[in-house]
Amino acid sequence: MTTDYILVGHGLAGAVLAHQLLDCKQSLVVYNLDNPRSSSRVAGGIFNPITGRKMVKTWKADELFPFLFHFYKKLEKKLGASFFHPLPICRPFLSPEEHNNWTVKGTEPEYAPYVEKVASAAESDTCLRHHFGSLILRQTGYVDLSTILESSKLYLKKLNAYKEEAFDESLLQFEKNGISYQGIKAKKIIFCNGEALRKSKYFGRLPFRLVKGEVLDIQSDKLPKNKILNRGAFVLPCKDHFRAGATYDWQNLSLETTEKACGQLCKKLDTLLSVSYEVIGQQAGIRPATFDRRPFVGVHPEYPDLAVFNGLGTKGVSLAPYFGDQLVRFLVKKSEKIDPEVDMKRVF
Ligand SMILES: Cc1cc2nc3c(=O)[nH]c(=O)nc-3n(C[C@H](O)[C@H](O)[C@H](O)COP(=O)(O)OP(=O)(O)OC[C@H]3O[C@@H](n4cnc5c(N)ncnc54)[C@H](O)[C@@H]3O)c2cc1C
Repeated sequence: MTTDYILVGHGLAGAVLAHQLLDCKQSLVVYNLDNPRSSSRVAGGIFNPITGRKMVKTWKADELFPFLFHFYKKLEKKLGASFFHPLPICRPFLSPEEHNNWTVKGTEPEYAPYVEKVASAAESDTCLRHHFGSLILRQTGYVDLSTILESSKLYLKKLNAYKEEAFDESLLQFEKNGISYQGIKAKKIIFCNGEALRKSKYFGRLPFRLVKGEVLDIQSDKLPKNKILNRGAFVLPCKDHFRAGATYDWQNLSLETTEKACGQLCKKLDTLLSVSYEVIGQQAGIRPATFDRRPFVGVHPEYPDLAVFNGLGTKGVSLAPYFGDQLVRFLVKKSEKIDPEVDMKRVF
């Protein structure tokens, strides 16, 4: 059998890239060993252009956000599934000064496209502990990653392009024009296997800075279903419960959930919320984050038949569509260079 591309991994990176390649009339085979504790299965899936303690615009937001809206809406239609949920993010202010500052900052050209409203104290949600008003952001929301992965898997299976099995790198063979694996010949192989890439003979040198994250599933009938609350912790409305998160741990990279993380999250939730909730579940995953917080995209400098789409870190939902598209243009249309800030050659 021959194909254009073999993809290793079908988390967010592999799924996004697979459909971008298919849309360019490329054939492919995806190898994925499904892991309920993979980063994509655990993630909240939030996209938010204004982040961090200092609340600044994220890197390349003006390019990434229009792109992601277009991409996920189109993919929903293609897969016949609903997973893209634009929703406002509500960030309560902790003081009247903060409210005043955002009344000005929210009108600046850099921020105005992302600010829906600077809500007054009177408009505050009653479930919030602080009543100094809130910053309501737009071009925000979440992507239900499990639904994307399931619907994409079904689609690929119908094309006979999905193999539910582990890829064993030691069986990879280099041919004159491309590679072969277990009888399948391909022009290139693209590693989209998240944090597992660090065990690769070819890519093990890439300087990941993995970070474990834990989330809680919570239940409450007093939380809003039409917005994401976010300050210290996020509270995200899912179908029949809420997801709250997330922790950051650079030391303990096991996939086990911990009481410590549950305690940390409950403490943050109690600071954010004035209402009670019940914890009904807890999950942990490893974010494939990198030393410079930029993805690893491109072709191996010594093995041009090996490519990588990885390192999506804490913001995979907003980064994957834009940089997946860039990689596809580079590989297929040969029309675009990989942005030097994400080109993995920067670390070789
Ligand atoms: C707690 C938590 C919260 C998060 N919240 C957000 C958020 O709100 N917004 C956001 O944008 N991002 C968030 N993230 C980050 C986001 O999850 C990642 O950026 C993204 O999902 C990474 O996707 P990936 O496909 O690169 O990796 P993964 O999701 O890890 O997928 C890799 C896939 O490859 C498979 N695989 C690995 N090795 C092999 C092999 N040898 N053979 C076959 N298959 C293999 C794995 O089983 C898996 O299915 C969060 C992450 C965590 C852990």
